[in-house]
Amino acid sequence: MSAAPVEATAEPIPLRFFGDQMLRRVCEPVTDITGDIIELAERMLVTMQVEEGVGLAGPQVGRTLRIFTHALPDLAPPVLINPEIVDLHGEWSYSEGCLSIPGMHYELVRPGTVHLRAWTIEGEEVEIEADELLARVLQHENDHLDGVLFVDRLTGAARAEATDILAARVAGTLGTSDPLLTGRAIPGLRKPRSA
Ligand code: ZN
Repeated sequence: MSAAPVEATAEPIPLRFFGDQMLRRVCEPVTDITGDIIELAERMLVTMQVEEGVGLAGPQVGRTLRIFTHALPDLAPPVLINPEIVDLHGEWSYSEGCLSIPGMHYELVRPGTVHLRAWTIEGEEVEIEADELLARVLQHENDHLDGVLFVDRLTGAARAEATDILAARVAGTLGTSDPLLTGRAIPGLRKPRSA
């Protein structure tokens, strides 16, 4: 699959970090691939590159739209819009991290295979069958579009540790009202079906 063109002039966008309520919003579908959306995608690709991420979702750059990018362009189009998870299978464990939660990595089991439907930046509908790293990135980025962070999916000691670290990190800011820290329900959080 060809990579979406990246304008050499595209400017990176500052990242949003844990505690920013933007990361908790359920994003709106993209209704039309306008010039604004193309520019956003180009800037997201540049931002992902500069920040050395393997994926980046709209809310992480302050746009609550259903769009994300990933850094595995040989496996699937690097900009995916209005993604829909059709099916999930199996289990795969991977040490996951997030550009919006720097310096934290936790082993997390998620389904190992994903069937996802989305639009490309050219407006074509694509069906993607992914496993291992791409499957992980697609699930992680798709979660961002529902206001869900990977730390929300941790359990037991890992969850307790991550919660303590993040509480200390956002102490004294509005971030202390984050649902992970207050125990409030996260609206977009659904347990992945696994077959
Ligand atoms: Zn992330």
